[in-house]
Amino acid sequence: MTSTTTIEAETVPVTTAPSGTATVTSLPQVDYPLPAWLPYGCPAWCGYGDEHDEDTHYDDRNHGGFAFNLVLTAFSSAISDDRDIATERPELNMNLVQHYREVEPRIWIGFNGTNKGVHVTISEAEKAARHLLDMVAAAHAAAAR
Ligand SMILES: [Zn+2]
Repeated sequence: MTSTTTIEAETVPVTTAPSGTATVTSLPQVDYPLPAWLPYGCPAWCGYGDEHDEDTHYDDRNHGGFAFNLVLTAFSSAISDDRDIATERPELNMNLVQHYREVEPRIWIGFNGTNKGVHVTISEAEKAARHLLDMVAAAHAAAAR
């Protein structure tokens, strides 16, 4: 007997800022004004684009994009008694984020649109992703026997 687990996944579309080669010697070609704190524009994956504005608090000057939400159908409320996390429809939220002064993005992995979660480096995410794919392959191989 086999069992099937259904995972609902929803990709949140994001618009990307015009890509380009934002370097010290080339200014981005965008059709909206860039705030003074962001003279070289956004990385290609940033979906905020013209939402960055002059009055954004320093701590909030983040690029963001590639948002992905995943409904966790196998989540057990026994894992957490936190009401923000153990809801009827727990959801994992992931996206790229990078403060405009950081050299590379991080990945946010959180729960239910709250500030409860973790940031992982790109390297950490890559290691975890490879291991997850290995586990998925092992599970599929075992199911095929
Ligand atoms: Zn941006």
